[in-house]
Amino acid sequence: MNDAPKISNLAAIDAAHHLHPFSDMKQLNAKGTRIIERAEGVFIYDSTGKRYLDAFAGLWCVNVGYGRTSIAEAARRQMEELPYYNSFFGTTTPPATLLAQKIASHTGGKLNRIFFTNSGSEATDTWFRIARVYWKALGKPEKTEVIARKNGYHGSTVAGASLGGMKLMHEQGNLPIEGVHHIGQPYWYAEGGDLTPDEFGLKVARELEAKIDELGEDRVAAFVAEPIQGAGGVIIPPDTYWPKIARICKARNILLVSDEVICGFGRLGSWFGYQHFGIEPDLAPIAKGLSSGYLPIGGVMVSDRVADVMVNELGEFYHGFTYSGHPVCAAAALENIRIIEDEGLVERVRDDIGPYFAAAWKSLEDHEVVGQAESVGLMGAVQLAADKATRRRYSKPDDIGTLVRNHCVENGVILRATGDRMLASPALTISRSEVDQVVEKLRHALDHLR
Ligand code: PLP
Repeated sequence: MNDAPKISNLAAIDAAHHLHPFSDMKQLNAKGTRIIERAEGVFIYDSTGKRYLDAFAGLWCVNVGYGRTSIAEAARRQMEELPYYNSFFGTTTPPATLLAQKIASHTGGKLNRIFFTNSGSEATDTWFRIARVYWKALGKPEKTEVIARKNGYHGSTVAGASLGGMKLMHEQGNLPIEGVHHIGQPYWYAEGGDLTPDEFGLKVARELEAKIDELGEDRVAAFVAEPIQGAGGVIIPPDTYWPKIARICKARNILLVSDEVICGFGRLGSWFGYQHFGIEPDLAPIAKGLSSGYLPIGGVMVSDRVADVMVNELGEFYHGFTYSGHPVCAAAALENIRIIEDEGLVERVRDDIGPYFAAAWKSLEDHEVVGQAESVGLMGAVQLAADKATRRRYSKPDDIGTLVRNHCVENGVILRATGDRMLASPALTISRSEVDQVVEKLRHALDHLR
């Protein structure tokens, strides 16, 4: 426990000095910010002492749960030994190298090299540049265009916000940048019409083919998507979607990029989301669960196909961050992965708590305002519906989602709302009774919509 004296006017200081990410500051200052002071297991505590079950693992990231002193210990030891050195200009540090090896050992064989970043957004910028230099090094400098999806999320840097398909982000800053294109998302509930989910999955996957035809195969470098679209609302694709996408990328010689920032490190009951869907990407950005958020670190997992060109053909790659492979962050990430391995958390999600969560979550479908309650591993969404029979949605989805979320928070459970979808993504360590609490509190909050 932190025994530094409490600062009583922190909220006022915050209002005066702190610009929050993704926040309407005027509204926030009027309402006052919630100050989170400490955490343990799946629970966080605010400055009034109120306890919340964090069913969102921070921001989809605290996979091993809060309060892991061994991660703090690993970071402290590394900070004492060597707080910083870089991997530029011919050096590395033991944790950076060992972390790259450790990550590669879980990728299933073909993604054997890691380029480190500090965040998921930087990982996006990194693979974006890798994809372009890859084709250039192969004598195809015109292969520069990248196709992404509407409603996808790949970060907040200029490339990240461009590749993401969030209209509100595009509107702030003349995005997307040149060379970025978007196709539809596999959101059957809202957009599938009379098609079965499988038919719809194929239909939206074919949009990739059409976009490649429109741009010209010789100009397209890569296609990127999250295995399950996270910030866009936990959009779980129909079974037909990913195999078709993978076939198209292969047939049309386009790099396939699987954004593993949320789906990686056990969330779907596999080490990486692409393994759950049985596909093999050429590049895969990671972050979040890599360190469970204990320290900032991200990276790009690079397939042998791409790495061989980077290593043997490219010459110097003019790209990197001062803190790429930061030894303290890498030491924390190594300890985090040790915990995931030793506690069998990936298997736990696949065989035990994931199926338990799925059944509990699905039970919400008997509620009259729930159109669909679906999940993979420990990533779930409840689709709210004004009329279940016709899949009619509420006219003001954001208001409805916020209302339900606020009731949950008041009752001590942190969930997220994206429009009219209620999202959960708890720590991989959540217990059965904690899952029950989440579902019960959400059900109670849904009653307010009756
Ligand atoms: N990619 C995905 C799928 C994400 O969900 C996020 C963040 O939520 C990012 C990239 C960006 O990561 P960061 O916020 O660490 O920059």
